[in-house]
Amino acid sequence: MKNQAWIDKGNALFMQTYGRYPAVMVEGKGCRLKDADGREYLDFLSGIAVCSLGHCYPPVTEAICRQAATLVHVSNLYYTVPQTELAALLVGHSFGDRVFFCNSGAEANEAAIKLARKASPAGKYEIISLEGSFHGRTLATVAATGQKKFHEGFEPLPEGFRHAPFGDLAALEAMISPATCAILCEPLQGEGGVRPLDKEYLQGIRALCDRHGLLLLFDEVQVGMARTGTLFAYEQFGIEPDILTLAKALGNGLPIGAMLAKEKVAAAFTPGTHASTFGGNPVACAAAVVVVQTMLGDGFLPSVAAKGRYFAAKLDDLAKRYPHLAIGARGMGLIQGLLLTDQGKELGPRIVQRLFQQGLLANFAGNTALRFLPPLIVTEAEIDQAMATIAAVLAEMAG
Ligand SMILES: *Cc1c(COP(=O)(O)O)cnc(C)c1O
Repeated sequence: MKNQAWIDKGNALFMQTYGRYPAVMVEGKGCRLKDADGREYLDFLSGIAVCSLGHCYPPVTEAICRQAATLVHVSNLYYTVPQTELAALLVGHSFGDRVFFCNSGAEANEAAIKLARKASPAGKYEIISLEGSFHGRTLATVAATGQKKFHEGFEPLPEGFRHAPFGDLAALEAMISPATCAILCEPLQGEGGVRPLDKEYLQGIRALCDRHGLLLLFDEVQVGMARTGTLFAYEQFGIEPDILTLAKALGNGLPIGAMLAKEKVAAAFTPGTHASTFGGNPVACAAAVVVVQTMLGDGFLPSVAAKGRYFAAKLDDLAKRYPHLAIGARGMGLIQGLLLTDQGKELGPRIVQRLFQQGLLANFAGNTALRFLPPLIVTEAEIDQAMATIAAVLAEMAG
């Protein structure tokens, strides 16, 4: 069966939650995907920051196969080797003292919200997050998300969430009340349009938390796991959170999420307070162990930073050629956005549509930027190839 036959079949069956591109992906290798018609795509989205080591990275595939033939699942009433190995790697290379495993980004943030409340004195339950943020699609994480469009139709949302204007430390401080227990933010907003927080701003948020006795929660579901050129994004801001969430790239495509926390916060979770049937599944953990080891390998992180600079410089050059459409690159490491002008924003959806038709996968984030999340194993030649496609599409849009 070819693309159209599968698409027609799927459209009659799925709840229509996604606006999908007309391709049925059947195969992936490295930075490339192939659809049911045999068309090839250069994947500069990586399943939205998931397949960071590229599609079907052989050492991960091998770990999955080996673990699947050994032990696929046991209850968290027992210990497993892959889960323990992964915990040692994450705790050993982060601020965190303890980890909780779950299956997705939203679940990791749910766990973080629950832990922040449980670890805080009675009467402190309110969490302040930032406008433009994205924290997931469950009711609590949707309530934490600072974008109205994700709330509409789902009210009443759980209580205890407030949203502060982006970039305004004084406004954030003014929102802190005796009920506040934590501040939650992404060090770089991904869905919000590839928008990093200024170093001084994020350090200011840390200082606010210290001064008011609040917990600081970082959502690194999208920007953790080497995406920015360090294993965790917070490393580049000179501060540490109290709780950190991870998911997307952790399993290179297998569903897994994690929440890390400092000992004195983590101590609030005692047996029976929180759990997940599938969380820390041995196969997902075996994949994640290889992911973390690979990212910590010689030269990996510096190469992400270097390729990010290379890509950003090319995007900046392109923006100079089309100043009426594009402003320039914004991002960290290999999460890069091409910021569009007002005229460019109008064309955003059409630009990504044309990129797709030309065989380049990207998307339009926060109604402000073309977002590129190539696999971290991308080569300069592949970046050049992507740039040629982006340049051709902008030339076409410029008429
Ligand atoms: C994707 C994402 C989530 C939600 O993750 P899911 O696995 O889709 O639940 C939460 N926070 C951020 C920053 C994300 O990018």
